[in-house]
Amino acid sequence: MTTAGRYFSRRDGMRDYIEEGPLLPALDEFANELDRAGYSPHTTAGYLRGARHLTWCIEHRRFRRSDLTLENLRAFARAPHARCDCAFPEKPTHSAFSAMKPFLRILQRRGIAPAPKPPPFASELARFGAYLEEVRGVADETRLTRLRTLAGGLGVLMPAGRFDVRKLTVPAINALVASFAEKQQIQKARWMADTLRAFCRYLDTTGEGPRIDGKSIRGPKARKCQPLAKALTLEQLRLLLRPLREDTPLAARDLAVLLVLARTGLRRSDVARLALKDFDGRAATLSVRRNKSRRAHEVPLPSEARDALLTYVCKYRPRRTGDALFHAENYPYDKGLTASAVSAIVARAFRRSGIEHVSMGAHTLRHSLATHLVARRMPLKSIADVLIHKSIETTALYARLDRQRLAAIARPWPIPARSPNPRSPTP
Ligand SMILES: [Zn+2]
Repeated sequence: MTTAGRYFSRRDGMRDYIEEGPLLPALDEFANELDRAGYSPHTTAGYLRGARHLTWCIEHRRFRRSDLTLENLRAFARAPHARCDCAFPEKPTHSAFSAMKPFLRILQRRGIAPAPKPPPFASELARFGAYLEEVRGVADETRLTRLRTLAGGLGVLMPAGRFDVRKLTVPAINALVASFAEKQQIQKARWMADTLRAFCRYLDTTGEGPRIDGKSIRGPKARKCQPLAKALTLEQLRLLLRPLREDTPLAARDLAVLLVLARTGLRRSDVARLALKDFDGRAATLSVRRNKSRRAHEVPLPSEARDALLTYVCKYRPRRTGDALFHAENYPYDKGLTASAVSAIVARAFRRSGIEHVSMGAHTLRHSLATHLVARRMPLKSIADVLIHKSIETTALYARLDRQRLAAIARPWPIPARSPNPRSPTP
């Protein structure tokens, strides 16, 4: 029996219907994919029924090959019984609709549907991506953000969707950057300026460049780095975690993610990449590998973070999830969290706790930890080790803070008195 057939009963003829027809291999590949991703049998059956109506219609020439686009398939799924005259009419279902995107990928891979059109600037983006990786050694997450930024920038500079190096001029680039800055999207403006500068430099190395001096591309006015404004007080941290202390799989996962971020200061991409084998509950460590080539760091886990992880892993983490330490909420579950999913978890925690803060992203927790450690007078070198800062310069940013405000933020920490007199009040 095929994997797809296992989901259906022989009695009403459903299994035969699913298992007949020349496109059964595609359907079966879909079933296996859903199976691996840990879908519930109910959902998988719904997806397969939707996909089967489609393959039935393809087999009976209701579709031309060129009509097999996502848009058309979704329209089909919204009205399957009207468009399909097989023996098992069905009302439109949500799962049939959701099935179309992943199933279309299978049809494309098998050459049944036409290959997807490459997005605009695909070859320029691919070459720039390779340059960032191989020549500049840029880490994965940064590289993807650069490429997304470049795709957006080129889309504005070259609205026709064709790459034209003559449109890469200093005034055009500066106007684009300024348009973000005007909307107060300072971070985006800075990324755009940096990205286009790097892209022009890359084009220069290939000899096709617009010959632009990188200095003439103006980024937004630099603001002073304000890690202090971004740091949460310990009371705010406590409030942030409070709604997550409930007995559900999602809350357990989110609590573990937040505590790992808050107590170890790991970046969101590091947390997203953690595998189950990286967590050593007995030694209370996480093994963090930032780059394939570099060695792993052993990051010590404070007990609260370790306990939350143990609870999550032993009690709530789905068994069928792949290697990833943290399972994803949506398909594909076994891929684990993405970096932006980690941010979404933090943002959701902020919303639920009702804390209003200047910055509600994952990095806020890292800032807060650094700030608290500085306030506790931990040596900069040790803080750099905790945060896996490559350079102590970065760590020193946190130390150049207004000591008084720092003390206010960190007041709830019991700072050991330095005074030899034990009765003198603790600052
Ligand atoms: Zn049908």
